[in-house]
Amino acid sequence: MSRVQQVTVLGATGSIGLSTLDVIARHPDRYQVFALSGFSRLKELFALCVRHTPRFAVVPQAAIARDLQDELRAAGLRTEVLVGEEGLCQVAADPEVDAVMAAIVGAAGLRPTLAAVHAGKKILLANKEALVMSGALFMQAVRKSGSLLLPVDSEHNAIFQCMPGDFARGLGQVGVRRILLTASGGPFLHTPLSELEHVSPEQACAHPNWSMGRKISVDSASMMNKGLELIEACWLFDAKPAQVEVVIHPQSVIHSLVDYIDGSVLAQLGNPDMRTPIANALSWPQRIDSGVAPLDLFAIARLDFQAPDEQRFPCLRLARQAAEAGASAPATLNAANEVAVAAFLEGRIRYPEIASIIEEVLNREPVVAVDELDAVFSADARARELTGQWLKRHGR
Ligand code: NDP
Ligand code: MG
Repeated sequence: MSRVQQVTVLGATGSIGLSTLDVIARHPDRYQVFALSGFSRLKELFALCVRHTPRFAVVPQAAIARDLQDELRAAGLRTEVLVGEEGLCQVAADPEVDAVMAAIVGAAGLRPTLAAVHAGKKILLANKEALVMSGALFMQAVRKSGSLLLPVDSEHNAIFQCMPGDFARGLGQVGVRRILLTASGGPFLHTPLSELEHVSPEQACAHPNWSMGRKISVDSASMMNKGLELIEACWLFDAKPAQVEVVIHPQSVIHSLVDYIDGSVLAQLGNPDMRTPIANALSWPQRIDSGVAPLDLFAIARLDFQAPDEQRFPCLRLARQAAEAGASAPATLNAANEVAVAAFLEGRIRYPEIASIIEEVLNREPVVAVDELDAVFSADARARELTGQWLKRHGR
């Protein structure tokens, strides 16, 4: 390692952001924080600035920026506070930056992540929604700029580790038969179907193995997360939806597998702690300590597998449908899901209605080509509008 790498952490106040900063802090000889962003957790952002002394911090509004700037100055820090999407894009693309952790949740992460891609940065991709929305354009931009795209999502990081180095030649060319994407099944794997009507946001967010932000926790409960990951895997590894099989594995120890034509199946295992894939992506192709405890196979004792039940997890079926339709369908799916999940978290809709809303929006919205970013954002906006109409029609 020649010099200290400058890292921008987009979404620093979130679950992935904090895990990233934990890994970075273990290696001050390798990594320095260049910029941090927050959205609503501003006290936490201030504390992170004190701890990591970034050159820049980014917040959503000018008034918030002024307050934070005053506080930082009073604390003797020279961190400069920037504002909004423009600020996020600036710190993602700054010539001094080596790597960008894309860990903003949802569609809000798309433009800043793409700014990092266009600037040819090393992208540590957690923000799967960005890739789901704009897959073809995103991958085209990666190829054009020569940016290095490293998956942080634990399953995709596992697949990346189990793939041969030249997988970009095509799965068929490198002897890969299929990708086996593991899923924990979430908190409702065994809940009687009749009780799903009554589950609360707190129950949906109580994931058995992982501690995550609220949106992805609900996505994990509904398995929309696995559906988004199926689409993510297709783009990252140039796979067809039919080449990606979802396997429920409740212990979350095997993070995914690659099945080769000679019958070999390679898997990556580890404790369910995001610091492992984060450290892997940060230091690739080297390895660094992540702070994660060694895996204790004797304590785990057994590994179980089962096929997903589409009646229990209709969101998985809807995501596969969108993956197969391609073009604007994944952006439509993603936007309807974001609005529906937010409504569920606010107590405005029941849990099974998340899937009903998405299905209706997908059925009503035509699939159109997305040759440019504007088309992606139009599909996103139309799906949000249709989801809003559903909520209004049902008095929510
Ligand atoms: P969190 O909700 O914990 O964090 C989200 C981050 O994004 C926070 O820093 C938040 O700021 C910021 N943010 C929220 N809305 C906006 C917005 N409109 N504009 C700018 N910033 C915003 O989520 P996670 O860390 O769990 O997830 C982040 C991403 O990583 C998601 O795309 C998720 O799918 C993906 N991921 C997460 C995993 C996990 O284990 N958590 C695993 C694999 C992927 P603030 O908190 O200050 O409001
Ligand atoms: Mg995942």
